[in-house]
Amino acid sequence: MKVYKFGGASVRNADGVRNLANIVAGEDDLFIIVSAMGKTTNALERVFGHMQKGEKEEANNEIKQVQEYHAEIIDELWGEHTDLNEVTLLFGQLRNIVNDIVYRKSDAELWYDTIVAFGELISTTIISKYLNHIGTRNRWLDMRTTLLTNQRHKDANVNIKASTMRLRSALENTGVGVFVGQGFIGGAPDGTTTTLGREGSDYSAAVVAHILNAESMSVWKDVDGVLNADPKIFKDAIKIDALNYLDTIELAYSGAQIIHPKTIKPLQNKNIPLFVRPFGDKTKPGTVISGDAPHVTMPIMIYKRDQVLLIIRSKDFSFVMEEQFAVIFSLLERFRIKTHLINNSAVDLGLCVDASWHIDSLIEALEAEGFEVEKNDNVGLLTIRNYNDDLYDRYVRKQQHIVRQVNPESVRVVLRSAQF
Ligand code: ASP
Ligand code: MG
Repeated sequence: MKVYKFGGASVRNADGVRNLANIVAGEDDLFIIVSAMGKTTNALERVFGHMQKGEKEEANNEIKQVQEYHAEIIDELWGEHTDLNEVTLLFGQLRNIVNDIVYRKSDAELWYDTIVAFGELISTTIISKYLNHIGTRNRWLDMRTTLLTNQRHKDANVNIKASTMRLRSALENTGVGVFVGQGFIGGAPDGTTTTLGREGSDYSAAVVAHILNAESMSVWKDVDGVLNADPKIFKDAIKIDALNYLDTIELAYSGAQIIHPKTIKPLQNKNIPLFVRPFGDKTKPGTVISGDAPHVTMPIMIYKRDQVLLIIRSKDFSFVMEEQFAVIFSLLERFRIKTHLINNSAVDLGLCVDASWHIDSLIEALEAEGFEVEKNDNVGLLTIRNYNDDLYDRYVRKQQHIVRQVNPESVRVVLRSAQF
């Protein structure tokens, strides 16, 4: 069994879906994991945003646009106006949720997950139907009932043990060798929908590969493989041919958009190689991520946007010590805020965290514990691994940074506004 994962950019239009069909043609022992088409997840996040604010009309308008976008792809794939019943039903369910639910702030993550999951439900329904339509027999699986996660919305982890039976039995006695499942989504013990974190489809695919003891996993992307920098930000990005698991985890945690950070562990545990391959040309080698690749030595640049820098001080100017750390980090955990850089001095603690809906609640809670908090919105976190003098000069010395951390292997800076 092989596992192929197709991201949203790869299936953003009818050509992309046809290309997917080309890539999977002839395979008879394959599990395909697909993300939402194009920017659908972002659109559904906006739907949720409107729901949060009670803006039903705007939410419905947004859904309408998402539906038209998919309808166009369907019509183009079938070569004539076509209604897929299952897709219409999914949009109906989505509308019912948005129109009928009494929204409470404490359930933000639950409704976020319930709504954004439709992106993957819709994309996989279209793709599975299309593959059957052109003769690639396959079975659609609902990952909400196949991958069991913990009870943690918006950033769930898959319970591999509990999912093994479910997944394996879903593949039994089906008479087909090709399966299509949603990336990014799962089901919580209480039966509600969970998501695994943005870009989490890679992680879904890795879990499926792990459970099914796949010979390999491939991620089909719109780049030639893993690059040493985001080409949209840094010119001269080049491809890395081979990476080991450890380096990949390091890079992903620093915010490199290679692969979701949670992807590697399930593969590493079973020594399953991961290929990052260009969607446009299946003869190109891409990048291979495996246990025995050498340690990477070329410079790697990672820029993480949408960060907030919090500077936390004790009101009485006492040191920020262990027990205070414990209070601070348990509050971060309670408000589900992810920290990407920690910088402590004698009197304060700097935290670079993801922008989140709960930041202000966190700050209130910290203040109630006797801390003073300074909040810097709209900052970015730049990490350069294996930096050299030239890169240091260009990207660190000449940028206005608020925090700088320098190690022999890497330099990290928090920037107010990056001008690369
Ligand atoms: N569709 C989800 C997202 O855009 C998951 C993924 O693409 O992996 O974040
Ligand atoms: Mg995506």
